[in-house]
Amino acid sequence: MQQTLDFSNVPSSVRQFGIYLDGEMKPSQSGKFTVRYSPAHDCPVTEIACAGIDDVDLAVASARKSFDNKVWSGKSGAERAGVLLKAAALIRERQSEIAYWETLETGKPISQTNGEVSGCADMFEYASGLSRTINGESYNNLGEQLFGVVTREPVGVVGLITPWNFPFLILCERVPYILAAGCTIVAKPSEYTSATTLILAEILTSAGLPNGVMNVVTGTGPVVGQALCENRNVDMISFTGSTAVGKNVICASGETNFKKLGLELGGKNPQSVFSDANLHDAADGVAFGMCFNTGQCCVSGSRLLVERDVMGKFTELLKEKLGKVIVGDPLNPSTQMGAITTDAQNTTILSYIEKGEAEGAVMSFGCGEIKTKNGQFVGPVVFENVHPSMSIFRDEIFGPVISVTPFDTAEEAIMLANDTDYGLSASVWSKNVD
Ligand code: NDP
Repeated sequence: MQQTLDFSNVPSSVRQFGIYLDGEMKPSQSGKFTVRYSPAHDCPVTEIACAGIDDVDLAVASARKSFDNKVWSGKSGAERAGVLLKAAALIRERQSEIAYWETLETGKPISQTNGEVSGCADMFEYASGLSRTINGESYNNLGEQLFGVVTREPVGVVGLITPWNFPFLILCERVPYILAAGCTIVAKPSEYTSATTLILAEILTSAGLPNGVMNVVTGTGPVVGQALCENRNVDMISFTGSTAVGKNVICASGETNFKKLGLELGGKNPQSVFSDANLHDAADGVAFGMCFNTGQCCVSGSRLLVERDVMGKFTELLKEKLGKVIVGDPLNPSTQMGAITTDAQNTTILSYIEKGEAEGAVMSFGCGEIKTKNGQFVGPVVFENVHPSMSIFRDEIFGPVISVTPFDTAEEAIMLANDTDYGLSASVWSKNVD
């Protein structure tokens, strides 16, 4: 830990949020709230409404009604574009506020959340253009008496289930496009990081989105998320999260109305470094790939494959870079790695560090847990002598832990890279394009 925590910036009182229904923040049916603590500062920051199945039913009914009434899908692309552009402007106006609450709930650095929120405004701007250009196809080659037209129609009500690692970014990678297409939404953020999803719902109403088009239900995954997946009035689920729950979403869809599904699940992503690469650049890239978002990232580069003849030199370079990473108070603008977002994730990461050592890999950099008075922090960890059979090579750890495995030929690198049940991202460091 290279900084002490600054408590002068944490909120003096807890901010309370209801669920978002029909264009308004409202209490849930139970009237109960859960308190979210900052994982970096251990102090309460938000109170989030505990929604139940009744709330899900109300939110879906609202989204269904506003879809069927065509209050949104009936608008022209240009009208939808106007709302999305206004939302982008409001996100930019409220950037510091959104970044602040995102950092408090996730523990990620404030410089990063500011960058993410700005990128989110950009996605609304991009999607506004797309809403004007949604078009289909025409076929005049079917024969003299025939003419075929394919139109693109909104799917309907979309259930949007998002995780805690990029609560605002993952939301905004989806919401503007769903809205550009004319669909309506019931969003269910992770119970740990709901605040910024609710702020976005408020922004959309202020931007002129008709009531009932964007609804948010907050609460636990097994209750609220599951009910959304099982609701027959939902036409599509967009889910980002663990592979285990992804399987559950497929089953729930299959057992009800065969919803359309968009699933973004886990990864165990290889970064392959060849001896002809610029090793300094590659070490920067690999360090960033494993430390970004404290490794709590589906595209985290958690498996390092290095050509054997540069392995020693490269791992030394990597460790030198990792030694400079600033871990600390996420509210400090110079911090590069903040806290681990959830208690469960903290336990998972630490258990994999123990497992790696027990399986015979050598922890050649880092100490794992950083003992602090407040919060939960894990610094970067490098494991060498990692065999592909080890769990630290095979399982998604979702933390700042990298396993190093050597290779001798390009064919072997490809074989090792593909030796995984996951498929998500990969990178290759070489100057040889062939
Ligand atoms: P989950 O899959 O449990 O959570 C993702 C979202 O699904 C959350 O909103 C969660 O709600 C919700 N959810 C949980 N159970 C259900 C259910 N039965 N039906 C519908 N929705 C549900 O991820 P975790 O938080 O447990 O993270 C654990 C692992 O998931 C990580 O270690 C990583 O492997 C992976 N992951 C991948 C991500 C990615 O970006 N691809 C993002 C996050 C996690 P709630 O949080 O309120 O329980």
